Amino acid sequence: MLQVNTEKIRIMEDIILKNRHIYPIDEFLKIKRGNKGENEKVNLNKELKDEGEDDTKESGNKERGTKDRRGNKGRKGGKERELSQIKVNDEIVVDIIVKTILSQNTSDKLRDIAFERLKGKYRNLMDLVYGDEKEIKRLISVCGLPNVKTKRIKNALIKIKEELRKPSDLCKMGKDKAFRFLTSINGIGPKSAEVILAFACGYDTFPVDTHVSRIIRRLGISLGTREKIHKIVSPHIENKILTHIFLIHHGRSVCRAKNPKCSICIFKNICDYHLSQMALHSTR
Ligand code: SF4
Repeated sequence: MLQVNTEKIRIMEDIILKNRHIYPIDEFLKIKRGNKGENEKVNLNKELKDEGEDDTKESGNKERGTKDRRGNKGRKGGKERELSQIKVNDEIVVDIIVKTILSQNTSDKLRDIAFERLKGKYRNLMDLVYGDEKEIKRLISVCGLPNVKTKRIKNALIKIKEELRKPSDLCKMGKDKAFRFLTSINGIGPKSAEVILAFACGYDTFPVDTHVSRIIRRLGISLGTREKIHKIVSPHIENKILTHIFLIHHGRSVCRAKNPKCSICIFKNICDYHLSQMALHSTR
């Protein structure tokens, strides 16, 4: 049974909140959302209003009745934390799904080039359902795995077309049900599903990618695979998408896989990896 150091999560989140200005987090969110105007700006930590689905009825919310670090009763009654006050619409949902699949195993830059090429040809990406496969592969080849990604995009859009009245219905079925719907699509795993739920629907989720899992492990919060970290750490993160975005930036610029820049890291006083390296050097 994997352990989670919840006290260290609390300290990590406090450090992140104090230092959130060092990375362009709000810019990142706008870019992810498509940057289409004021209505689509995000408002982190906004609690979901009473309207909408209560998906904890069907899932049994583990966090029901728990207190947050300010001592407030949190999420009781099934209120999901929402990160956005944006209007969910069909185009954004489809765009984010396509973008998320394109971003698998590639850089943001190449993903964006492929996405813009698709948008240049198919203004409404739902039309990819009927699009010529060869043409789609050609347009997205810049971001790698064109055969696999074309198949995944088509599968995902066909499922949405066949099973939902309209794409934005994904965001009305409740977070857990939407998660199950997305992960039932071949090629959409838990991380991609959480990304879609955050940036298409505005849920506060904690996608665990390679940067996030590396930092969580090095800090000593929890060990194990990405999937396990997602499952056992996520419920304890209070500001999920903020923490996710911060750690992505931090993993790219400071806590890199090779040669992490521990001397300038804001987590160095709580990091097991760094402290063990220091202890090793002092005994030499
Ligand atoms: S102290 Fe080093 S290993 Fe630890 S989180 Fe920072 S950069 Fe990563």
